[in-house]
Amino acid sequence: MLEGQGLVLEEIVPARQGWAHRVRHGETLVITDLEGQQAVDFLCFDADDPGDRYSATNTIKVQGNVYVGLGTVLHADSGNALMTVVEDTIGRHDTIYGCCSIPNNRLRYGAETTESCYSNFEGVLAPYGIGREGIVANINWFMSVPILEDGCAGVAEAALRPGSRVGLRAERDVLAALSNCPQMHNPCNGYNPTPILVQVFRAGDRGAVS
Ligand SMILES: [Zn+2]
Repeated sequence: MLEGQGLVLEEIVPARQGWAHRVRHGETLVITDLEGQQAVDFLCFDADDPGDRYSATNTIKVQGNVYVGLGTVLHADSGNALMTVVEDTIGRHDTIYGCCSIPNNRLRYGAETTESCYSNFEGVLAPYGIGREGIVANINWFMSVPILEDGCAGVAEAALRPGSRVGLRAERDVLAALSNCPQMHNPCNGYNPTPILVQVFRAGDRGAVS
């Protein structure tokens, strides 16, 4: 299935683990939710200027929509385009709820936890010299956060759709970082964290694939 499609990297990210990789300009990162109902927290940075981070507010304001989906350009603080969503089998992904952390698990659920997306981000960003200042409001791929008319929002259980995927074309060299969410206190992972697949395809070798 993959021959001839310019696959340059393919890895399984185990349940509850983080992952980071430099994606070169023009390459496409494809994230696949193998078993379904798995939230994937995501950040990206200009690889040559890591202080220039993904900006949820710039991304939301430019497109005039709080959800990310096919065609969304992920903008940095500088306004530069970091990545573009070129494949999306879901249609909308959360931009406002950020990542789970040991403190917000305590605040929200009164739970003392030892693993979180925040901790995973700290771990995978440290080798690139990025500290907590880089952990901003992230994208939550495959996570459903409906917003009601009165502003109420919350994590809803997503439909079980194994094989859901998003493709992100790098508009410059970017550092992509993700956390395969370990959360067990809300339905974002169906109370069963599972592995995901990450693939990187060479520039020009991954067009519009349905
Ligand atoms: Zn999480």
